[in-house]
Amino acid sequence: MLGASKRRQGERVAPTKEIVLIGAGLAHANALRAMCKSVHDHARLTVVTRQPRTPYAAMLPGLMAGIYSSDDIHIEIAALCRFAGAKLVLGEVSGIDLDARRVFCEGRDPIRFDILSIDTGSTPNTHDVPGANAHAVAIKPVDKFLAGFEAARARLLQQRGATKFVIVGGGASGVELICTMERVLRADLKREGLDPAAVTFTLLTRKAAILDMFSRGLAARFEKILVARGIEVVTGKNARRVAAGAVITDCGTVVPYDELFWTVEASAAPWLGDTDLALDERGFIEVQPTMESTSHADVFAAGDVASFIGRTVPKAGIYAVRQSVVLAENLRLAAERAPLKPFIPQKHYLQLITAGEHYAVGARGGLSFEGRWVWHLKDRIDRGFVAGFKKLAPMAEMVKSA
Ligand SMILES: Cc1cc2nc3c(=O)[nH]c(=O)nc-3n(C[C@H](O)[C@H](O)[C@H](O)COP(=O)(O)OP(=O)(O)OC[C@H]3O[C@@H](n4cnc5c(N)ncnc54)[C@H](O)[C@@H]3O)c2cc1C
Repeated sequence: MLGASKRRQGERVAPTKEIVLIGAGLAHANALRAMCKSVHDHARLTVVTRQPRTPYAAMLPGLMAGIYSSDDIHIEIAALCRFAGAKLVLGEVSGIDLDARRVFCEGRDPIRFDILSIDTGSTPNTHDVPGANAHAVAIKPVDKFLAGFEAARARLLQQRGATKFVIVGGGASGVELICTMERVLRADLKREGLDPAAVTFTLLTRKAAILDMFSRGLAARFEKILVARGIEVVTGKNARRVAAGAVITDCGTVVPYDELFWTVEASAAPWLGDTDLALDERGFIEVQPTMESTSHADVFAAGDVASFIGRTVPKAGIYAVRQSVVLAENLRLAAERAPLKPFIPQKHYLQLITAGEHYAVGARGGLSFEGRWVWHLKDRIDRGFVAGFKKLAPMAEMVKSA
């Protein structure tokens, strides 16, 4: 806060600032695209992230269904960094010393920063439920989830018999996954000449209804779809612990499983708790409307890992992308020591949730709708978003050779 108020004097500084971006999620990827021209007069950019490719999770169900290839759903971070003139460091950040202004990354020398931005996303909370880490496959990180799903798929075909799939979490990703798994796995069994009804699906949520963060119309449409596909929905039951083969709820209900997936509310990485950053009750970084930390000037957070004080901003890619535009500008302004701009979240957005192969449900304002055309709309939007990054790769080569 201190540095932030000094900055508002508007004095300009030489281009010597080190801006370090941790994580290359949707927020940073899009910010890098936006920053390429403007920031270099004032600072050098370094991106530290653990994977060279960032998956666009909205397209994950399509990848599981074989509609998309792995390339279709990934943003190439190395090409993006070349385009943005940023140095790329591949590695997992394990801590930050905010006083010494150093980022610690496994197996590397500490990385010095003047301005820091954190976009490390979120993962479903498996820490609070004993046994969940050991027995369930979490939806994130996406690469581990995909490996877990393909292994479960192979086991289903090997066993050629009854298999019970359980997903814990009744939000958008839980519903998308169970609908996609139902389509994909029943089609697998049918292709092998086996009974598609041999695989069963249960969605378990502690909430009174599925999709409670979405419009009632959209949720009601999914309730009907799940019933029509024979997917069991267990509501109002909180998973207390997980044993081999069974989830035990608060009230003692035992939900048996053969394959277990975890998509409950997001939580932040535990290492953030070892920094001095102000965090909210779920461990996300508390930020002002400018995305600057409430406790530390020149430290920013964006995307799922950011928790805006005094307002609810959904943890969704669409918000991460919108934040990125303001973030890109604010990082430049911070380097110039100029006043920062606030991120103002939009009230309504187009909600599009896939129901498996080539079918989706959408809502905007009070209106909900569904059909193949909704899936095609989502497909066009999603492909267009990732394609926007792919166009940068040849431009990056031009930038490099210029
Ligand atoms: C199945 C599914 C479907 C979804 N569909 C939609 C949708 O249709 N619309 C929508 O708006 N949202 C959707 N979402 C939510 C959306 O994916 C997230 O809100 C969005 O990805 C968040 O972006 P982010 O920038 O916060 O971080 P992320 O995109 O999650 O990326 C985080 C990055 O940080 C890196 N990282 C993490 N920890 C470290 C570390 N310690 N060191 C270095 N790097 C690190 C990761 O490797 C990754 O690159 C969906 C999510 C799921 C799971």
